[in-house]
Amino acid sequence: MTLSLGIDFGTSGARGVVIDQQGGIVSAMRHHWHVGTIDWVKCWTEALWSLLGQIPRVFRQEIGTIAINGTSSTILLTDDSGKPVDAPLLYNDGRGAMALERLSQIAPANHTVLSATSSLAKLLWMQELPSFLNARYLLHQADWLGFLLHGRLGISDYHNALKLGYDVEKLQYPEWLERLQIPLNLPQVFPPGIPIGELLPQIAAEFGFKAHCLVVAGTTDSIAAFLASGAKFPGEAVTSLGSTLVLKLLSRHRIENARYGIYSHRLGDLWLTGGASNTGGAVLKHFFSDLELVQLSADIDPTQASVLDYYPLLKPGDRFPINDPQLLPKLEPRPDQNQEFLHGLLEGMARIETKGYELLQNLGADPLTHIYTAGGGAANSTWTAIRQRYLKVPIVLSKNTEAAYGTALLAMGKINLERTTEDTENTEE
Ligand code: ADP
Repeated sequence: MTLSLGIDFGTSGARGVVIDQQGGIVSAMRHHWHVGTIDWVKCWTEALWSLLGQIPRVFRQEIGTIAINGTSSTILLTDDSGKPVDAPLLYNDGRGAMALERLSQIAPANHTVLSATSSLAKLLWMQELPSFLNARYLLHQADWLGFLLHGRLGISDYHNALKLGYDVEKLQYPEWLERLQIPLNLPQVFPPGIPIGELLPQIAAEFGFKAHCLVVAGTTDSIAAFLASGAKFPGEAVTSLGSTLVLKLLSRHRIENARYGIYSHRLGDLWLTGGASNTGGAVLKHFFSDLELVQLSADIDPTQASVLDYYPLLKPGDRFPINDPQLLPKLEPRPDQNQEFLHGLLEGMARIETKGYELLQNLGADPLTHIYTAGGGAANSTWTAIRQRYLKVPIVLSKNTEAAYGTALLAMGKINLERTTEDTENTEE
């Protein structure tokens, strides 16, 4: 029996999942951290060792591969020995805004790095700190946690490296980025899932892992969640019905459109393209409890269209599929009956989802064939039936929605992201 371990460092805690070769879950672990955590390095390290320690010993000896995912654009600086020289900057830290003006003079217009929370904007901000003098490596969260396991410094994957400005198509750092001459080592970037090194012997011995257990290049948490769904062919998509509405469509073509906040991650020879609307479960939550949502949904006839024409938002402004920072929420008229109101909300969101997929396809993505659904709204069969009426493709529940599971699949080699011959030639030029 050969098992694989996927580790997810998300926003509120870390999770681990051990799977067998059929993709079945044999063990799952969890480690929560405090909301007010100050020492993130200590917190992540404790979480990593805690997850390894929670795996039943019989399975530890059978684990052949390990992968880690982290939150996108969570970065830290380390010295030559891999020791952090300052506190990490978390995914949502906006202090990189101070570097945006400088960055906009160097990066191509509309590039994904031109955001206050991009890894590159954060790095430029960090460059001004006194601690930068001791920094030798820039690493993403997943890179650094991987380093703790395999001991190789300065390694990343092309999912984490996208918002650092790495050119995931040519598989190299672009010239404009090289020109910045940032005086430290940017990570060497590998395809996610590629073996990086063996688990350090002292860790293998301490936890009872087998010798030669391989640590592979990681990914980001949202891509890991997509991989967990089971979607893998062009035209397959994952809609996340969480607090916001997030669409991801697998395509043979790369779509980038800054106007609508659309960009693509590389997935082997395919592209994972997507967009996010401010509509979603947060609007439902504003009006109804989870229990009310279940009860009211049961009273809605999803085969009948609602006469209400809503654009559900909590405050003005949306970007995708309508780019209008002033777009007003449309939640009126409100009928007396709550189920009629909810019907209008669900129907409005289904229309926005449909428009979103239409936009991605109009911009060149492959035709939509299947939608997997994740998030708090996924279990609502009334909503699914309403969406079905608009979207006209099969809608299924995601097989699994845990990022840790997607990362375990990556570790298992179930997701083929190897470079093609053509790519290899490009990088060797
Ligand atoms: P996130 O991780 O984005 O915060 P979740 O995936 O946990 O969100 O989903 C939470 C959302 O799901 C809430 O906004 C809630 O209103 C919504 N939700 C919960 N139950 C239902 C339901 N039965 N039907 C529709 N939406 C629901």
